[in-house]
Amino acid sequence: MTTPYDVYIGIGSNLDDPVAQVRQALAELSRLPLTQYIAASRLYRSRPVGPQNQPDFINAVALLRTRLSPLALLDQLQALEQRHRRVRRQHWGPRTLDLDLLLYGSEKVQLPRLCVPHPELQARAFVVLPMAELAPQLTLPDGAEIATLAMTLADANALEVLPDYT
Ligand code: ATP
Ligand code: CA
Ligand code: CA
Repeated sequence: MTTPYDVYIGIGSNLDDPVAQVRQALAELSRLPLTQYIAASRLYRSRPVGPQNQPDFINAVALLRTRLSPLALLDQLQALEQRHRRVRRQHWGPRTLDLDLLLYGSEKVQLPRLCVPHPELQARAFVVLPMAELAPQLTLPDGAEIATLAMTLADANALEVLPDYT
């Protein structure tokens, strides 16, 4: 049996009850094959990247431990997006569910379908802050510390933590 990898999944939604979409996605991620669900961040609200004439996003990050290969995991994530009836109308446009593979252990993957670490990871407060919440000691494959990134991101203040009313 291969050793499992710790993977971080970025979750985003800004259509059709985004809080419910994100919660459902977390439940679905906990049921992926060959995968153990470790933890999830709180839910965050962020302004959209790109076109501004669309609703705010609800974001979270999940930490999983998986024996799926990077591409097999991407297949699972894309199947979940489809189950949420995601329609891709516009790049960076509104969507019911977006699942990004942020980190796969400390592996680097450069394939046409998959780039890991996610190229925008370090630039996005809605990714960095939830990751820092989950793993304050985490160091990224290029040596950057997540806690330092969380403190220095300029748009961190624009991010709002949702009250936990579960
Ligand atoms: P961004 O990647 O800037 O967050 P996006 O999430 O809106 O943009 P999508 O339309 O969801 O982009 O994805 C476009 C393609 O990106 C997907 O078809 C997928 O094959 C590819 N891709 C490359 N790297 C990754 C990754 N780390 N996680 C998810 N998809 C990836
Ligand atoms: Ca994305
Ligand atoms: Ca995506």
